[in-house]
Amino acid sequence: MSVASIKNSDELQDLYRELILDHSRNPRNFGKLPGATNSAEGINPLCGDKLRLYLLLDDEDQVAEASFEGTGCAISVASASLLTESVIGLPRNEALALFKTVTERLTRDSSESTTHVDIGKIRALDGVREFPARVKCATLAWHALHSAVLEHAKPVSTE
Ligand code: ZN
Repeated sequence: MSVASIKNSDELQDLYRELILDHSRNPRNFGKLPGATNSAEGINPLCGDKLRLYLLLDDEDQVAEASFEGTGCAISVASASLLTESVIGLPRNEALALFKTVTERLTRDSSESTTHVDIGKIRALDGVREFPARVKCATLAWHALHSAVLEHAKPVSTE
C-alpha cells in the first residue's frame, strides 16, 4: 500500500467517524411516526440499546416515511439514523436487500457482499467491524427494519 493511499484511507476514516458522531448527536427522523403502517422493536441486551423503528409504507409498497425512537449507545443511534435516511423512498423488496447487504457487510470479514446494493454513506459503519462487541449495536436497527418490513409482531433481540 502506498503512503498516499494510507493517508486517503485515514481521511476517509475520519470522515466516517464524524458522520457517526453527527448522527448519534443529532439523530435524523427521531420520534414516533404518526400513521406508521409497520413498526418493530429491537433490543440489544449486551449493550442496553433499545429502539423502535416505524415505517409508513404507501399504496405502492414503498417506504414513504421512516423514523425511530429509543435509547442506546452512539453506534446504535447513528446506525438507526442512517437507516431511516437510507430507507425512505425504497420499495419494500429493496429495503430488505439493503438490510441483507448492511448486515452482511458488518458481520463478515471482508466488505464483499452477495448483493449489489449501493449503500452510500452507510459505509461509515464499516469501522465497527474492528470492534466485534459493537457489531450488534450497529445491526440492531437493521434487524428491526427486517422485522418491521415483514410485519413480525414479536420484538427482535440480538440475543
Ligand atoms: Zn450499543
